Amino acid sequence: MPSERNNTTPMELATLQHCRLCPRSCKVDRLHGETGFCGAGACATVALASRHYWEEPCISGTKGSGTVFFSRCNLRCAFCQNNQISWEGTGKDLSFEELAQVFIRQQASGVHNINLVSPTPYIPLIAAALRQAKKKGLAIPVVYNSNAFESIGGLRLLEGLVDIFLPDLKYVQDDQALRYSGVRGYFQAATSAVLEMHHQVGTLTLNKQGLAQRGLIIRHLVLPGQVGAARQILQWIQANLPLETWVSIMGQFVPLWQSSRYPEINRRLYPSEYNAVLDFFETTSLKNGYCQDLSSAIEDYVPMFDLSGLE
Ligand code: SF4
Repeated sequence: MPSERNNTTPMELATLQHCRLCPRSCKVDRLHGETGFCGAGACATVALASRHYWEEPCISGTKGSGTVFFSRCNLRCAFCQNNQISWEGTGKDLSFEELAQVFIRQQASGVHNINLVSPTPYIPLIAAALRQAKKKGLAIPVVYNSNAFESIGGLRLLEGLVDIFLPDLKYVQDDQALRYSGVRGYFQAATSAVLEMHHQVGTLTLNKQGLAQRGLIIRHLVLPGQVGAARQILQWIQANLPLETWVSIMGQFVPLWQSSRYPEINRRLYPSEYNAVLDFFETTSLKNGYCQDLSSAIEDYVPMFDLSGLE
């Protein structure tokens, strides 16, 4: 009798053999030792599974969000807060079966949802793990928390498995995406991805406790000196998605990692900049938004990536 692994995963895992999971389209054979831009291999490299209280209120609730932090990334953001895992790849390699167990343990701990942080390079493994975990009783919402640099083909592997998409729509100008995150064609790819995400899950729905159940929340991290870009992001959302779309305007930028190489962003946001973006939001027809207290822009919120929660 075939094993469950052989029964449930060939379609998903086969995509690792010619990896085009994101727009980098490296076409490397990750099942046989090759690695592409992100450095991810045949297993899911995970740095931490924890309970997180600093997401949007509808995600964190009162019991916290069950974050699973994946290592390696398809961007190279100079200001990355998680460079220890995104650039350096710190983490533990897990099979999809082991990843499914992490999800089950997170649910058993009482968190409101499973929050997949920087999941893009591992979509096939995550899809297989979610299918297995759901068979074993995983019932809380699954949040896909990414940088939005996604391929449509990759996202379609998640159809029916992810409940809430939480993309950070980072840049509107390609020269800035190239300068600060080393990526070409970001805006075209990311906006196409956001439309696919909306197609899959629709506008956000909340339960009676105000917790997210299904839908799209678009984040935008405002960069120093980039009020105009933030306005353009909001204008794009207004023009291309329902006015009920939830938008989370983040002001938590901290000039970490290699930010000092770019003097124009090597500082925190001025309150006047952040307020200008919030004021602009009020002039749009968008109906639902989150904002942050600028005091949340401190390094203390960066997690310790010590492999906790992976045993
Ligand atoms: S997921 Fe990684 S290997 Fe695959 S296309 Fe993207 S950057 Fe390349």
